[in-house]
Amino acid sequence: MASTLRALLEWPHLRRGLLIGLCVVLYVAPLAVGTEYRLFIATQMGVYILVAIGLNLLNGYGGQVSLGHGALVAIGAYAAALTMVDLHWSFWPAALLAMVMAAGVGLLMALPAFRLSTWYFALITLGFAEVIAGLLTEWRALTHGFAGVVGIPAPKAFGYAFTARDLYWFVLTLVVLTLVGMANLLNSRFGRALVAVRDNPVAATASGVSLVRIKIFAFVLSAAVAGLAGALFAVQKTVITPEDFPADFSVFFLLVIVLGGSGRLAGPVVGALVFFLVPELLTALQSWRLLIYGGALLLLMLYAPHGLVGAAEGLWKKLRARLGLPNIPPTPVAADAPIRAIDGAQLSVRDVSKRFGGVAALASVDLDVAPGVTHAIVGPNGSGKTTLLNMISGYYRVDQGAIAVEGRRTENLAPHAIARAGVGRTFQTPRLLPHLSVLENVLLGAFTAEKHSWLSAALALPAARREQQASLAEALRYLEFVGLRERAMELAGELPHGQQRLAEIARALVGRPKLLMLDEPAAGLSLAELDRLGELIAAIRGIGATVVIVEHHLELVADICSRVTALERGAVLASGAPQDVFSDQAVVSAYMGAHVRIGEKGA
Ligand code: ADP
Ligand code: MG
Repeated sequence: MASTLRALLEWPHLRRGLLIGLCVVLYVAPLAVGTEYRLFIATQMGVYILVAIGLNLLNGYGGQVSLGHGALVAIGAYAAALTMVDLHWSFWPAALLAMVMAAGVGLLMALPAFRLSTWYFALITLGFAEVIAGLLTEWRALTHGFAGVVGIPAPKAFGYAFTARDLYWFVLTLVVLTLVGMANLLNSRFGRALVAVRDNPVAATASGVSLVRIKIFAFVLSAAVAGLAGALFAVQKTVITPEDFPADFSVFFLLVIVLGGSGRLAGPVVGALVFFLVPELLTALQSWRLLIYGGALLLLMLYAPHGLVGAAEGLWKKLRARLGLPNIPPTPVAADAPIRAIDGAQLSVRDVSKRFGGVAALASVDLDVAPGVTHAIVGPNGSGKTTLLNMISGYYRVDQGAIAVEGRRTENLAPHAIARAGVGRTFQTPRLLPHLSVLENVLLGAFTAEKHSWLSAALALPAARREQQASLAEALRYLEFVGLRERAMELAGELPHGQQRLAEIARALVGRPKLLMLDEPAAGLSLAELDRLGELIAAIRGIGATVVIVEHHLELVADICSRVTALERGAVLASGAPQDVFSDQAVVSAYMGAHVRIGEKGA
């Protein structure tokens, strides 16, 4: 029994087989059990699932809370209904208009998201939804007020009008296509960027992701899906009134994805399914709805924080573990990618200063690094080393001075733009995405190297696939380079600290940085790992990249760096070859002040 089960679970096509089987059942079901009422409910469920899939992209993956998605559905529904009834448009251009209008309004709604924290932003979207709800009843000349829009015709194709059953098939097809497209998208550079923006914006920008662009992208795409669902909602109901879009409509969608599992592909489907399996309950208890929503949310937070799909995933893992099956998927295979040479960039920091309130973190610092050189920055804690890296990579604004990479001024650029210009870095505290695999973390680093559009990613066009395969090969190659290939499929958050640093170096390398900056890469490494790090940095220098390394291990520095700059209290004490800097009297006494003797390992 156990062995049959094991064989079944290990069948590589299990998931795909189940999904295809489910699709077949859903397509043929109306032929067998297609009563009008069931078709209506199933179609409506499909429409709601569409909205929820779109919202899941924004909320589950992008981490943005929208309490206005119900209003976007209303905009889509009214745009389609009014153009079809009042202007006699056919369904297709009307649906397109619904998507464009919802996307446009979504864009307007998204704009405050860049200045406000998540919850203030959620309140703005709520207010927005209120305004739309008000307009639906008050702007009677356009919307027909409380009377609503009546007699919305069915979609027609080649002169043939859709029956209720056709509409069901049509909506089902759209749901399937949207899910497939969404799965492709989430598996691409856009999905990883979205999760990075949610879990660690600094890591996202360090890989060249523009937070603003990704958030706008998620909002607009998710709004467009809501608009499309709105158009379908209109033709399905044939009559729409403002009462179809009650105040808690948006909360309902949020609840659907939280119930199903937000940030899980199947979450919206399962969530909507559960809601519709108890339709009588919901209609019978109309006036209790908000209370039920609230209670359900509370129970979920307590017992299934990742929704039903999250809970099922947990059970699945337990079952596999019980049967002795591995829970870590096999590392994907890819063609061998050679490690290509990089043209190191020249870095020049001129007279740069930075104050934090009364503290002069940097005072008139100069730093010149020639292309391909490995240059160390040393100094006691608090001497401004990390601040200097943050200025070069754009995380802090420069009070005074100039920074240039390959002669190009960068001091006024945003961090993601500096990353795109070829400046890669790691952080003193590793900034990985803990819920993604090590491999996916490294792939995030390839964000700017890949050029394909979101649409070609969603459609899995050959050009996008080729690029993704190339990145995969490269990521695996760099994981091997830092000695982490065996752990590629483990969750990044489960790696020991030292290995997280190495994974971060691999992520930076995949972006092929002309200038790589490492902030205390040796901290927390074992002695064996320390040796490995020395070899690794020597190998990086061998590729040709310019390396700036902040490091306390002065022996390591002396081994691998040809130049050193020593900082103290934000000022340059000495700069030059390691042996000269380390024998400089001012440097020695600065370090003595910090109770560290030069040459001592583990400083
Ligand atoms: P190091 O990396 O050399 O240990 P840092 O660059 O982190 O030193 O810090 C230099 C000084 O600047 C310290 O006094 C620190 O407290 C201050 N500092 C750094 N970042 C900030 C910040 N974001 N806000 C306020 N003070 C800061
Ligand atoms: Mg530091």
